[in-house]
Amino acid sequence: MQHFNIAVDGPAGAGKSTIAKAVAEKLGFIYVDTGAMYRAMALYFLRCGIGPSEEERITKACGQVDITIRYEDGLQQVILNGENVSGQIRTEEVGKMASATSVYLPVREKLVELQKALAKTADVIMDGRDIGTCVLPDAQAKIYLTASVAVRGKRRFDELTAKGVPCSLEEIEADIEKRDYQDMHREHSPLKQAEDAVLLDSSDLSIQQVIDRIIRIAVEHGLSVRGN
Ligand code: C5P
Repeated sequence: MQHFNIAVDGPAGAGKSTIAKAVAEKLGFIYVDTGAMYRAMALYFLRCGIGPSEEERITKACGQVDITIRYEDGLQQVILNGENVSGQIRTEEVGKMASATSVYLPVREKLVELQKALAKTADVIMDGRDIGTCVLPDAQAKIYLTASVAVRGKRRFDELTAKGVPCSLEEIEADIEKRDYQDMHREHSPLKQAEDAVLLDSSDLSIQQVIDRIIRIAVEHGLSVRGN
């Protein structure tokens, strides 16, 4: 049976995971967060004391890493060499390391293989940077979700402030711009809108509006939704 795949790409902080998780719940799809896989790899490199530009050590370390995914109460858990690291990969340090090390081909090849395999097993909504262009080029619906740097920075600032983490809006915006640049200008699978992706700018939309639009786009691309 052919599964329905929705690819969601876009820059850091555009709200991809919040939105994709909600769409998955609404449609009864599996949500696959590919950034979490790059983060788990990055955590391994950090634990080994490997620096972001040590390509040879990173390549070698790829052979020692086993990443798998499992679902608990519908939530994706990332397993690194048998250990559930889902609670440890959400730091800025790991995010920066993930962005720096995702430029290396051995890192990408390993994770893309896992991602392609997951999409064959179920209806999935998968988010990342290269899903529509590289991982799932045949996905029935593709979305490129973005928002202005100011809006993404403010969302991240509010999120950290709510958690009691001291932070500066200027620094957050500078980090976002740096990460965008890295992700868009790398040699392998840079972040870009697939030709057949629908561009969705969430700067002036509520979360619910973005969710509704994605579901509408999926329906326009052949998804049949019961009870709606
Ligand atoms: O989305 P998230 O912030 O968790 O991703 C962390 C980093 O992993 C990104 O900045 C990007 O460099 C990398 N990534 C990637 N390809 C993906 C998903 C994430 O290169 N499909």
